[in-house]
Amino acid sequence: MEIFSHFADVLLPLPVSGPYTYGIPLPLLTSVITGGRVVVQFGKRKIYTALVLKIHKIPPGEYAPKPIISVLDDQPIVNEKQLRFWKWIAEYYMCHEGEVMNAALPSALKLASESRIILNPVSETDPASLNERELLLFETLLNRKRIEVAEASRILDQQKIIPLIKTMLEKGIILMDEELSDKYKVKTVTFVELTDDYQQNEIKFKPLFDSLEKKAKKQLDVVMSFLVLSKFGSGATEPVTKSALLKNSGASPAALDGLVKKNVFRITEQKQDWGEKNDPGLSAGAIQLTTSQETGLEQIHKAFEEKDIVLLHGVTSSGKTELYMKCIQEVIDRGQQVLFLLPEIALTTQIVTRLKKYFGSRIGVYHSRFNENERVEVWNKVLKAGRNNENQPFDIVLGARSAIFLPFADLGLVIVDEEHDSSYKQYDPAPRYHARDSALYLAHLHGAKAILGSATPSVESYFNTRQGKYALVELNERYGNMELPEVEVVDIRSEMHRKKMQSHFSSVLIRQIESALENHEQSIIFQNRRGFSLRLECDACNWMPSCKNCDVTLVYHKAKDMLICHYCGYTTQIPAICPSCRGTSLKMKGFGTEKVEEDLSIIFPKARIERMDMDTTRSRFAHQKIIDDLEQNRIDILVGTQMVTKGLDFENVSTVSILNADNMITFPDFRATERSYQLMAQVSGRSGRKNKRGKVIIQAYNTKHPVIQQVVKNDYKSMFEWQLLDRRKFKYPPFYRLIQIRVKHKDQKIVNLAAADLARRLKIVFGVRILGPEYPLVSRIMNYYLKQILFKIEKDLSSTQMKTKLAKVIEEFYQTKLWGPVRIIIDVDPQ
Ligand code: ADP
Ligand code: ZN
Ligand code: ZN
Repeated sequence: MEIFSHFADVLLPLPVSGPYTYGIPLPLLTSVITGGRVVVQFGKRKIYTALVLKIHKIPPGEYAPKPIISVLDDQPIVNEKQLRFWKWIAEYYMCHEGEVMNAALPSALKLASESRIILNPVSETDPASLNERELLLFETLLNRKRIEVAEASRILDQQKIIPLIKTMLEKGIILMDEELSDKYKVKTVTFVELTDDYQQNEIKFKPLFDSLEKKAKKQLDVVMSFLVLSKFGSGATEPVTKSALLKNSGASPAALDGLVKKNVFRITEQKQDWGEKNDPGLSAGAIQLTTSQETGLEQIHKAFEEKDIVLLHGVTSSGKTELYMKCIQEVIDRGQQVLFLLPEIALTTQIVTRLKKYFGSRIGVYHSRFNENERVEVWNKVLKAGRNNENQPFDIVLGARSAIFLPFADLGLVIVDEEHDSSYKQYDPAPRYHARDSALYLAHLHGAKAILGSATPSVESYFNTRQGKYALVELNERYGNMELPEVEVVDIRSEMHRKKMQSHFSSVLIRQIESALENHEQSIIFQNRRGFSLRLECDACNWMPSCKNCDVTLVYHKAKDMLICHYCGYTTQIPAICPSCRGTSLKMKGFGTEKVEEDLSIIFPKARIERMDMDTTRSRFAHQKIIDDLEQNRIDILVGTQMVTKGLDFENVSTVSILNADNMITFPDFRATERSYQLMAQVSGRSGRKNKRGKVIIQAYNTKHPVIQQVVKNDYKSMFEWQLLDRRKFKYPPFYRLIQIRVKHKDQKIVNLAAADLARRLKIVFGVRILGPEYPLVSRIMNYYLKQILFKIEKDLSSTQMKTKLAKVIEEFYQTKLWGPVRIIIDVDPQ
């Protein structure tokens, strides 16, 4: 057994209660650092990247420590504030710190045995530049395409494999493989350039022209077009893309290839970036605020003298973003960092470009659609901002949910835009954190201020302003004296009665879209379900096809001509006859975005119609492309789910419609009313932004529903007051905290028994605060049965104490050994 003088407590990126203690071998003693990574063995064979939390001299009592295998960093990759933040998340959301670490670090920073690596398809590695071991791995990858770290360690030397992979990752020779092949396909633009020979020797053109004139007319066209497009000889030449050149010359790619072979042109690929890279030379100080914006900014300043958090409640287009930019400028001028959170889907080039105009290369964008290398790049540049001596650090991060985990050294301001958005909450896997709430804690850790912004704040945040916890700043005017759109509610039933519905569209809506088309204006049609028909049903016996793995009905997708489960992806064909009664009267019921798109194309055959939902935006750039197309007026009608409601700003959208408001409002969830209001108000905000008053058409059966009336009147406060009454009465947030406890197992009987036993134990400790167990809305997912227990805690009780007690009950529950294989999933503040 090896004897160690020093030990390191490390965190492993695994759902285990850590930390674990490893011995530091003498040769590594000077290189192991806190906050740096090391490679360790865990379990029988697996190796992992672990993070050093502490170095000390106390050997662990219960086990003989294993040695640290190798050291990866000579500088910390996380800081002390982050470690405190992780600890808080683990405690608050009741999960392991290792799980938080797992969510926090980009996977390229936590290589493990099962990580897979590939050659970087866009790198031109010269094998001669590699050392022996690098070359061996490189050649293995040439033959095998992808390989697991564990396998690589068998081929090479186990002890040193991860440091080797780390270096090759950093040099861009290899990449982490991420399954989704789309992710590492960096979008590139192909440029055509003159070879040096032609660039430097203009006299060479004459003989070229002569020979092409005779033998290759098409190639001559290409050269001539190039000279025009590149403004050759003007002293300020411009880059020429391959597509522009081919289009302009009308030549075929073969003609261009011929010229490449003749050594006239060379082809280069360049990575396409988000927004402008160039430094702007503009300061946000240059933004001219309107009087009401000016007042808003003063109120924010004033509020920050007393409070740390401001809720900025501003109608759509009131200029919230302009105020954020002013505040950002102040903070970076002080030398501090800014975190600006947006919901994933709202993070588009539109907003990036807007911010880059003022902050240029000081902005880092952090997005889940980025590949691992890009994520590591942002990580490192944020880390460097804390070290002061680097030339291009990021001191502003614009990011989605997971950006809260970046290594900020000194945050001065945290902005959470669209703070009401439920996608800030991570559902699965743990940590099931809420990025808004966590970001507020992060701000607190840094002594930073925070702005939560929304046109439709969450009931919780608005309530906090009433309680005096947050300051409230309101912006009630839209920029440029734009009016809020006119909202018209159409009664679907009465339209049907008078036979005026065409498919899912009322006559009012059809006329409105028609007139938009005539005026070359755009329309957005919102339907909150994707697919074609939501269910198939037998008219004779009411049979409906359901998923064989989940307790849900299957949705018909026409493009695939398949029934699909939206929970597990199971697909099957439409049966020819009803399997239950053998009848032939299977009918399609309910409609999703795909059907809306098709029906619209029948009614408006000439219109350019596109659809934006999860099905059409799976690949990396698909979402951005639809947005670009809408911006460039290449789309007349956009059909979509929630995605179309998020923070976009289009000048030419005059018409917005919600096809069926009822199915949102009647959703069985205590937040359904609030959500419906937010969705309807947000989607309405997409209309009529610049020149002209927009029009919103809400189709519904229950047109008298209060929430529809509140949307029509743009009356957030009434919605809020009304919801508050309900929430108090039925014991929901903001008066109570919720913890949802799910019991999960393959056997339904076991789930029932285990859930009953757990609920019984919980009721002994917490009494009537425990509700259930009940079947959740979907009681079986991927062949696992689920039961849920709801724990409601009064706001004035200490939730920390309650969580400690809850953890103890769960521990005792497992100690009985009866329920070993049953899984318990805890969701604190479920959305
Ligand atoms: P919000 O974030 O509240 O929806 P935005 O900040 O996006 O509003 O503003 C809406 C539009 O109005 C944007 O196109 C923005 O550029 C413009 N705008 C708002 N305030 C100003 C201002 N003070 N000066 C110039 N343009 C402004
Ligand atoms: Zn039937
Ligand atoms: Zn399923």
